[in-house]
Amino acid sequence: MNNNLFINGEFISTKNKQKVINPSNAEVIAEVSVASDKEIELALASGRSAFDKGEWPRLSLEERKEFLLKISQGILDNAQELARIETLNTGKPIKESTFMDIPSAAETFRYFAQNLEKFLSPETREISSQITKAQGILIREPMGLAVLIVPWNYPLLIASWKLASCLAAGNTVILKPSSLTPLTALALGNIIHDAGLPKGTVNIINASGEKLGEGICKDKRLDLISFTGSNEVGKQIIEYSAQNVKKLLMELGGKSASIVLKDADIEPAVNGSLCSIFLNQGQMCTAMSRILVEQDLYDTFIADFVAKAKKIKLGPGIDFQAQMGPLISKQQQQKVISFVEKAEKEGALVLCGGKIPEDNNLKNGFFFEPTVIEASSEMSIWKEEVFGPVVCITKFSSTEEALNLANASDFALAGCIWSKNISLAQDLAKKINSGTIWINTYGMFLNEVPYGGFKQSGFGKELGREGFLEYTRLKNIIVDQSKDSKPLVNYWYGF
Ligand code: NAD
Repeated sequence: MNNNLFINGEFISTKNKQKVINPSNAEVIAEVSVASDKEIELALASGRSAFDKGEWPRLSLEERKEFLLKISQGILDNAQELARIETLNTGKPIKESTFMDIPSAAETFRYFAQNLEKFLSPETREISSQITKAQGILIREPMGLAVLIVPWNYPLLIASWKLASCLAAGNTVILKPSSLTPLTALALGNIIHDAGLPKGTVNIINASGEKLGEGICKDKRLDLISFTGSNEVGKQIIEYSAQNVKKLLMELGGKSASIVLKDADIEPAVNGSLCSIFLNQGQMCTAMSRILVEQDLYDTFIADFVAKAKKIKLGPGIDFQAQMGPLISKQQQQKVISFVEKAEKEGALVLCGGKIPEDNNLKNGFFFEPTVIEASSEMSIWKEEVFGPVVCITKFSSTEEALNLANASDFALAGCIWSKNISLAQDLAKKINSGTIWINTYGMFLNEVPYGGFKQSGFGKELGREGFLEYTRLKNIIVDQSKDSKPLVNYWYGF
């Protein structure tokens, strides 16, 4: 696999290179090409022309399906190597890349390949009223050229969610990974090349965010921007998009709440809650960074949760025994430290963690201990997204109080409920102001089910039929069927 840009079917090596770091030990693991204005222009021109004149949007659905299945198979054929580089680049435990990220990415391509025909089938509506008789035909068309902007926490998986549905819908693409984690996206260029997709259908560039924003997001030739990342950058992209009016999909931050009711099965509730905040070092938009436990269960829950959090084994991602890797960068580590310091100043109680581990073997990496903080809802740690292994816990005495606490957030991405009473849990789920609620589980991202947030967590969906349809535009064709009783429009002027 090479580390070059992939534009118009060619691998492009640029003079300007960027070092890629392994966050487990701060060592350089690769040097990759960085797009300048010239490559950005090439990618835009190539993607535009591939849409306007190229084969991809004009292939039969069966042909498109076959190409997507080839990409899925290409990911599976290279799964071990992709998992290795994903882990070296992000620091995430190799178990996670091997068993979750990479196979799920392949599965997403397979899912959209197998469903695109069903999702694209036109719908006919018969209209019969006192003034007209007509047939409405609703058809789904590709949007055009899309730019897909991906964060660093799930580089290949989030790229695949976007790319698989966007391609299945018939669009051409510029894919832009985070500059911190470009390796698996660039590797995907090799797989797409080998699958033989028409030139210019997929262009993959590594560029600084600012260059991409200024150079691509404002450009007239672009039709859609699908962005996953921080609120700060998301807002900037909304501004860019206004200049030439683009369709936007925005998957932004979160501060999700998990509600543990007193009747919850304690072991799965504790174990699931650990996973919901410490998986991927807590660098998950859907991390349950606020846990609300019903009063009667609080002491038991906290004792078990803290004891288990202390046992989580930190280690370099590439170590199969590691249960938690490092944060993505020194900067992220500093950010998490300052959140914890501020929380302590505001009176929060750190029950465990809260610092860089003392283990000498980890000192070069950007590690941070799993951290549990008893906090209250007026504290900033309760409100702001940390994006690290830091959870706030508090107790509640009624379901109404739990709902008020859960919903008092600017974000509205996800939530969890732990209870044996499924009908009560479902009732609460309906009252939680978030796009996804898991009951007695966490983190099931299913290809079949659309996912996305409300409020400051963004808009638009990923995955499922609805996520796929985001990458299409809806056209209606209306056919007059009034026959004898001619439509009013024919006689309006009395001619
Ligand atoms: P980020 O916003 O810093 O970067 C995201 C992407 O945007 C990167 O590829 C980056 O290079 C690019 N970018 C940066 N500046 C840009 C600009 N001016 N114009 C265009 N692109 C630009 O986010 P991050 O630090 O990579 O990821 C962490 C954030 O992502 C967290 O806030 C997290 O909640 C969010 N996130 C959300 C979801 C979701 O589905 N809602 C999923 C994962 C991560």
